[in-house]
Amino acid sequence: MAHALIVGAGIAGDALAVLLDRQGWRVTVAEIAPGLRKGGQTVDLRAGSREVLARMGVLDTVLASLVAQRGLAWIDETGKHLAAMPVEAFDGQGFVSKEEVLRTDLARILHNVGSAGIRYRFNETVESLDDRPDGVSVRFRSGDVDHFDVVVGADGVHSRVRGIRWGEEEQFRNSLGIAHAWYTLDERADTPPLDGWFLMHNAPGGLMVEARPGHAGTQEVGLSFRTTEPLPPRGDRAAQLDLLERTFRDVGWRAAEIVSRAPNAADFALDTYDQIAVPKWHDGRVVLLGDSAWCASPLSGLGTALALLGAEVLAQELADGTEPIGDAFARYEDRMRRPAQEARKLLPGRVGMFVPMTQLGIRVWAVIWKAAQWRVAAPILKWAMAGRGRDSPDV
Ligand SMILES: Cc1cc2nc3c(=O)[nH]c(=O)nc-3n(C[C@H](O)[C@H](O)[C@H](O)COP(=O)(O)OP(=O)(O)OC[C@H]3O[C@@H](n4cnc5c(N)ncnc54)[C@H](O)[C@@H]3O)c2cc1C
Repeated sequence: MAHALIVGAGIAGDALAVLLDRQGWRVTVAEIAPGLRKGGQTVDLRAGSREVLARMGVLDTVLASLVAQRGLAWIDETGKHLAAMPVEAFDGQGFVSKEEVLRTDLARILHNVGSAGIRYRFNETVESLDDRPDGVSVRFRSGDVDHFDVVVGADGVHSRVRGIRWGEEEQFRNSLGIAHAWYTLDERADTPPLDGWFLMHNAPGGLMVEARPGHAGTQEVGLSFRTTEPLPPRGDRAAQLDLLERTFRDVGWRAAEIVSRAPNAADFALDTYDQIAVPKWHDGRVVLLGDSAWCASPLSGLGTALALLGAEVLAQELADGTEPIGDAFARYEDRMRRPAQEARKLLPGRVGMFVPMTQLGIRVWAVIWKAAQWRVAAPILKWAMAGRGRDSPDV
């Protein structure tokens, strides 16, 4: 029985684990976090996700976990709506759709559907990957050594597998010049309600504060800012919080309240918005999947769809493990290369529309979002937005 090591129990890694296990593979998953990672905002079911989830047999479970949302509204520093894009806009192809699920829930659903045969090693990662004629010898951080037929790097945008086998991240990274902090906030008596709206407040200087509905009694909040400076190390929470406090000190609406809740957020994360483009995703018996290979950035809105599709395509090509591995990897790359490239092509001016630099820019974008929904302009915007995922591979 062929044995796969999947590094990273995220969306791509867990989906692949489920599919390979069903195809008769022995599957081990190594995840660096102590448990399944929580956190993240909502992901939609467009661009092929719905179909993959249906084929995996989990669509009904996902649909039972949808977050009720009315749409996206841009607000000023007092909370007044400047423009709104309801979920019905552009026939459901707007920025927020009727079918969105928290990333946490999607990850949990994929994880739970896996059989007991999948072996999870939490708090674990890889230290070295050595090719042997019949597989890969892997040394884990714990000191354990094991042997696998294939190793899949599904360990996200800052992939360690990619680092070990392909080299420094910088050569594959295109920074979009934005950093983003996100976490879950438990609603208290004094927390302003969202009434189902995803609220976004832009401030001059390329700053943005957002709050969107989460599970009952919670809000998913985010703080975005333009920067080209390196962020504090991921483990240095004090320096991260200090940076947010300084950056959002003079921003209105709920910025102060939201920043003040960051220290106690269990799922707090701060990262840059990057794109990743690796010229070749496989080397020997090691292959990259998901953000580690092709991250299109959260601004694309396609990270989850591509992760699910990529997992399905890779599983199909690996079949039961009796195929020559290199050929299977090459066919997987052939099928996923184009959708990944297309996803990285952001709408022109996408960064500027997300975090405008000036007050004038903020107001202009609000007018554009209103006007875009008028009868004449709507079909053009609908076409542009529906283009997302047009290049899905046949599965
Ligand atoms: C906690 C979290 C929240 C997110 N929130 C959002 C969001 O709100 N909006 C959005 O657009 N995208 C979000 N993303 C990214 C989104 O999940 C991905 O773009 C997309 O689903 C592609 O999935 P992936 O499996 O390739 O990567 P990811 O979903 O990022 O999964 C990668 C997994 O690998 C693990 N990992 C990382 N390094 C190692 C290592 N060295 N060894 C072992 N395991 C490792 C991570 O802990 C994670 O579980 C989030 C990712 C995470 C991990």
